[in-house]
Amino acid sequence: MPTTTTVQRVAIVTGAARGIGAATAVRLAADGFAVAVLDLDEAACASTVATIEKEGGRALAVDCDVSDAAQVEAAVARVDTELGAPTVLVNNAGIVRDNLVFKMTDRDFDSVIGVHLRGAFLMARAVQRHQTAAGWGRTVNLSSSAALGNRGQANYSSAKAGLQGLTKTLAIELGPFGVTVNCVAPGFIATEMTAATAQRMGITFEEFTDRYAQSIPVRRGGRPEDIAQAVSFFVREEAGFVNGQILYVAGGPKG
Ligand code: NAP
Repeated sequence: MPTTTTVQRVAIVTGAARGIGAATAVRLAADGFAVAVLDLDEAACASTVATIEKEGGRALAVDCDVSDAAQVEAAVARVDTELGAPTVLVNNAGIVRDNLVFKMTDRDFDSVIGVHLRGAFLMARAVQRHQTAAGWGRTVNLSSSAALGNRGQANYSSAKAGLQGLTKTLAIELGPFGVTVNCVAPGFIATEMTAATAQRMGITFEEFTDRYAQSIPVRRGGRPEDIAQAVSFFVREEAGFVNGQILYVAGGPKG
């Protein structure tokens, strides 16, 4: 009887050393993808890679600053050589530099736009070559409920709103090649990013989470796995007719 071998698809998750990116990388590996765990520091990716390999998955740690075009090109080429041609991309890497507008420096603004928006553009441009060559692909961009406006986040909300425009445009341009591009926009998720915000406010993370939970209809903060689950939906084969959409995952309605 003839046997059919299916080639394992390769996904890149940026900012996957921890938080939402790590949970997404682990989830996509469980879904059957080989996963490139990309972050600023290769050593910091070790625990995500180890978790995937312990479950029998394939993973590769790759260091890359997503805001740097040359590093992005080199990283995507390395993934292609060592893991296989990447056809799934999750643009998750992010930083915050919060401040009220009168105190926000040029650098705070540019660095946040650089990582979130320019980084997503550079990664999407590099990966679309492999997606269009394969005639199949999935890109998911991490936006935020802050795209709707958030005090102290002129830089971050601009970047996250920009990512929604980028998503819709790439969905139009790449759709004819079998590539979908969608956006997950989380509300409050417990990670080091939000823990740092609590610290800046001078309150414990528990207090911060409890305060948030009171304003969330499901009365709890989100977990990285809540977001990984939404990404997993967008990248699956059956989601091929879902394109250019923004899904708020925030325990209640947004947008
Ligand atoms: P996190 O815990 O701070 O993790 C972000 C990861 O991105 C870190 O490992 C960080 O590395 C990495 N990173 C930063 N700059 C990078 C760069 N230039 N190139 C490559 N990697 C870089 O954040 P998170 O809470 O998991 O958030 C993940 C994504 O979800 C972000 O886009 C964030 O804006 C979005 N989001 C989060 C929330 C939330 O409540 N947590 C809500 C809405 C949206 P270093 O540690 O070395 O900096």
